[in-house]
Amino acid sequence: MAIVLDQNISRSVGEIDRMLQSFQKTYERAGFEADWPALLHNDYRLNDERVQIAIIDQNGILKSSSLMLQPTVRIDLSDRVHFTVHAKSAADELFVSKPVLGRASNKWSIQLTRRLSGPGGAFHGVVVVSMDPAHLSRIYGGLTLGDGGGIAVVGTDGIVRAGTGIYSSWLGRGFMEGNRTDGAMHDEGHSNLSYETFRGAKQIVATRNLDKYPLNVAVAAPDIDARPDWQKKRQTYLTGATVLSMLVLAAMLAMLVTGRLHEAQIVQMAQQDALTGLANRLAFRDKLQQSYDAFAEGQTFALHLLDLDGFKSVNDTYGHPFGDKLLLAVADRLRTNLRQTDFTARLGGDEFAILQDKLRDEEAVGLLAQRICDALSAPYEIDGTRITIGVSIGIALAHKDAYSMTTLMTAADLALYAAKADGRGKYKYYNDAMNAAAKARRDIEAGLRDALKWDQLEVHYQPIMSIATRKTTAFEALVRWRHPVRGLVPPFEFIPVAEATGLIVQLGEWVLRQACRDMATRDSSIKIAVNFSPIQFKESGLVQMVEDTLKTSGLAPERLKIEITESTLMKRDSRTINHLKALKALGIQIAMDDFGTGYSSLSYLHTYPINCIKIDRSFVMCLGESEGAAAIIKAITSLATSLKMSTVAEGVETAEQLEALAGLGCTEAQGFYFSRPMPASDILPPMFQAERPELASLAPAA
Ligand code: C2E
Ligand code: MG
Ligand code: MG
Repeated sequence: MAIVLDQNISRSVGEIDRMLQSFQKTYERAGFEADWPALLHNDYRLNDERVQIAIIDQNGILKSSSLMLQPTVRIDLSDRVHFTVHAKSAADELFVSKPVLGRASNKWSIQLTRRLSGPGGAFHGVVVVSMDPAHLSRIYGGLTLGDGGGIAVVGTDGIVRAGTGIYSSWLGRGFMEGNRTDGAMHDEGHSNLSYETFRGAKQIVATRNLDKYPLNVAVAAPDIDARPDWQKKRQTYLTGATVLSMLVLAAMLAMLVTGRLHEAQIVQMAQQDALTGLANRLAFRDKLQQSYDAFAEGQTFALHLLDLDGFKSVNDTYGHPFGDKLLLAVADRLRTNLRQTDFTARLGGDEFAILQDKLRDEEAVGLLAQRICDALSAPYEIDGTRITIGVSIGIALAHKDAYSMTTLMTAADLALYAAKADGRGKYKYYNDAMNAAAKARRDIEAGLRDALKWDQLEVHYQPIMSIATRKTTAFEALVRWRHPVRGLVPPFEFIPVAEATGLIVQLGEWVLRQACRDMATRDSSIKIAVNFSPIQFKESGLVQMVEDTLKTSGLAPERLKIEITESTLMKRDSRTINHLKALKALGIQIAMDDFGTGYSSLSYLHTYPINCIKIDRSFVMCLGESEGAAAIIKAITSLATSLKMSTVAEGVETAEQLEALAGLGCTEAQGFYFSRPMPASDILPPMFQAERPELASLAPAA
């Protein structure tokens, strides 16, 4: 029973000690300045008035306590042992005070304390958790050990901190004084049995020294020989003691704190990621600092930054509880694939980091990264559903890429970006070109903001022709950036940056407004096709924005065609679908752009309200060279016909291509063969007839 109680008390004291340590950490992190009243109020709200927290400054004056956040009177505690002990010694150790009678409250309390250290270890004060020993006693009091029985918690100084049964009146007294034996306390983690006489009856006393804390526990029970039934009841006693221990632990935990502290305690002083149990960002930063310090002394290491591929769509599709389980599974696989010296953390969302420490050769870095790629991309079985995701990894090496901890992080981040951009599921080492590319991206981003502000964007228009009538049926709006230095910048250079930074929302709106305005005054039989990015479909106000733009420009909704790509539909989230349906309900047409380059799931075509398929240029380009291209185009056009959709062939450059497309059943065509994209001023003047005889002569006879 002494052993069970030892474990139990150790755990309870451990909880309190972790709370003290979390105060120390908080103080350190706050740069040795902390708003204690606010901290106590917000983070450490206690749900039991028998426990209190107090902060004492280096002069022994109470700064704040959970009972009195802002002390109104000066309370001097500099003579208290729990203050002087820490003021005198630089050691960072837990101190458990003797029970003391409160100066104001006239109540007993025990203090568990730790030192607050400032820069260079200077003494900055003491953090105190105090509790009522009667409370402890009461918890143990439920255990009936018979007439001569009792439990005591005793300090290494031999003074009783808490007691029940025969020890209940020993509080604050020496355990040895009351005890009639010479039995001294013993080595750490060891138990001792002795026989005593209590009120004439023989009793047995088990004492045990707590492993980690300066405490002993003593259990006294009526002597076995004197109580013949004790042997028989042994099992019952032990079971009772175990149950009691659980109760004690539960009571201690409940006693501690509510809210954030509770969480912080349970998740180990906020160093652990609550979901996966891996280290969190904070712990990661500490560890990175350690590795970096060791690196300064010649110990090199590698930093791997991980980002899961395809996690977001799993989360969107199956919901967050499912996503959480997936993250747990990922964390497990990371754990099993790492060595003791590797450190892994979840930085947030679907981002993880690995610190590969004590690196001997660089080869080990690539091997680890590959092992992680393989491990994480194997299928998962979650709630009976089999799913597959992947991971991209960016690697930075301390001895190559780090001038500082920050440069190391940035390098790994850039490498991760490059791994993502290079098709995912890969690992990449940082190199200097990545930095240059990042700078170019930043320049483009900054430039784009200016472009939107200073009207440097233009919309060019490319006609889409009916193959049968050779008349212009629509113009596609294609954005251009007239850069003051670089001249006309094509969209492939800046659209991806605009998408990555979210600027695409503003840009897309601007293009739509410009295109509607340009077309509203032109031939009303010609439609205007505008490209929409998947990012725009995440905006809740998308449909309203389109409706407003149509209204202000006066363009009929039937004349607007919105071009989307398959990646828009791959998200499968309800917002996108609802947007598409609402747009269609307004009378707007939806075209599927670049068809054949993505996943080309045919299910998109009947699930979504699509009116038109644009066959990607890559197929048109191969016409006449590969038979496959013609077969694919034929398949697409017949599918479209049966689904009552029109087809536009993109990138038509020659008469032969146009002829072939006509033969394959394509309804419309677009490409340099007819016209390059042109500024609005160069296309047909407003209200001009759509037919262009000179183009008709270029086209082969139908
Ligand atoms: P897209 O929507 O597939 O546009 C067609 C692209 O093919 C245009 O390139 C056009 O100039 C080019 N093209 C047309 N005919 C031919 C041809 O015969 N031969 C060749 N080689 N190319 C031809 P551009 O203007 O560079 O636009 C590239 C892409 O940028 C567009 O592909 C579209 O995805 C995107 N984009 C352009 N403007 C916008 C916009 O306002 N918003 C969004 N979200 N994306 C845009
Ligand atoms: Mg397009
Ligand atoms: Mg296209």
